[in-house]
Amino acid sequence: MLFGIKCTRKGIRTIMKLIITTLIIMFFATWTAWAQNNLEQFEIVTPPVCVNNKGETVQFVKKLSQKASFSAGMAKRNKKRVPTIYRFSYEKSPKAMQRFIDLHECAHHQTGDVDRPLPPQNSPLQMMNESIADCIATLRIRDEDKNGEALILDALLEINKTMSSLGFPDSSFNSRKSNISNCLKKDVSAETFILGVLKQREFK
Ligand SMILES: [Zn+2]
Repeated sequence: MLFGIKCTRKGIRTIMKLIITTLIIMFFATWTAWAQNNLEQFEIVTPPVCVNNKGETVQFVKKLSQKASFSAGMAKRNKKRVPTIYRFSYEKSPKAMQRFIDLHECAHHQTGDVDRPLPPQNSPLQMMNESIADCIATLRIRDEDKNGEALILDALLEINKTMSSLGFPDSSFNSRKSNISNCLKKDVSAETFILGVLKQREFK
């Protein structure tokens, strides 16, 4: 006897059928879960207006990647020195996250980070630049978007997912979240905040 089925030829055939059916169900369940996580595609949002600290218009360039499981952005000058934001796999994230990444990367152009030497990875200076960019993105979404605060909360959920899939500890996300929450409450516009940063850096 095996699972209450007699070990006759008919019994064995029934067991084989059961095993095959179970495997097929397991395969589809796993595939569906994987597909939901990886194949969901989002409409790509229109890039925001972005002008750097020297008054140059920043261009946005779409980069698609089949393998990436989350969206990302990068702010730099291209080979022709044109200020650029590369939008990697934006189709993998909802509107709030795309918007947040665009404005975060734009902030690196607005504050002149892009034209300054790259600080060492995880150095206090780099952390400071990232906090400032998050803050500017938060202020712009709050003031320029309909339901801006709700959009920021949606973006935070996505940032949490991305950071934990990249192996960041909870503490990294929490400090980013608290910086974003503090910025949300600031009684200042993004423009004034940026002016303060540029003055402090003696760019203005
Ligand atoms: Zn950044």
